[in-house]
Amino acid sequence: MKIYLATGNKNKKREMCELLPEHTILIPSDEGIDFAPEETGTTFYENSLIKAQNLYEIVHCPVIADDSGICVDALGGAPGIYSSRYAGPDFMHGKPDGQKISQEEQNIFLIKQVNDAIKSGNIPKGEYLNGKYSCHYTCAMVMYCGADRLYVAQETFEGTIIDDIKKQAGSGGFGYDPIVFLPELGKTVAEISAEEKNRISHRGKAVRALKRIINIV
Ligand code: IMP
Repeated sequence: MKIYLATGNKNKKREMCELLPEHTILIPSDEGIDFAPEETGTTFYENSLIKAQNLYEIVHCPVIADDSGICVDALGGAPGIYSSRYAGPDFMHGKPDGQKISQEEQNIFLIKQVNDAIKSGNIPKGEYLNGKYSCHYTCAMVMYCGADRLYVAQETFEGTIIDDIKKQAGSGGFGYDPIVFLPELGKTVAEISAEEKNRISHRGKAVRALKRIINIV
């Protein structure tokens, strides 16, 4: 089946091609489609639905859209839906001019912000799955086949934020992967193979849930 992926992110396309090898996956730029809908939702699910609806209106073909991000427990789940725009404690939702900082700077800022929050004791009360540095990636995924036919899966991938940028490791994956440590594997997400990441990641788990539906659509 031809399925459009509502993203400009080539890493996501690569991951999705690996996860759905029996389908033809296209992203808007493959066909010269200008696609940059405003992500005005307040949840991962709302943003994935906005992206899916917008692209469906252009291509009139099944669309998969996802919205994902990293949620740090000590920061009350931030940066969450703002992960790609996160620009440090003063610009948690992104800079007013929309300029993004580099991933390296995002990683440095995030580690510092988590360390500061933990040191100050100003963190949400409650149980932390993997200790005070607990975090998880979240991925909401929508398969949109028309206004009255859509399917949703939302999944998580748990780890911890490293406490020092000098401990970052690995060159696989993308985004925050070099600073997200997986206690059970003793490695960062950037140190595991693409296959292993797909097996345990938020996006991998969400797409496998949707795959069962895609195969009957
Ligand atoms: P989206 O494209 O709006 O879903 O934003 C996703 C952002 O969340 C990315 O730009 C990354 O900052 C972060 N993110 C989501 N999934 C991952 C992942 O698997 N590894 C690393 N960073 C991720």
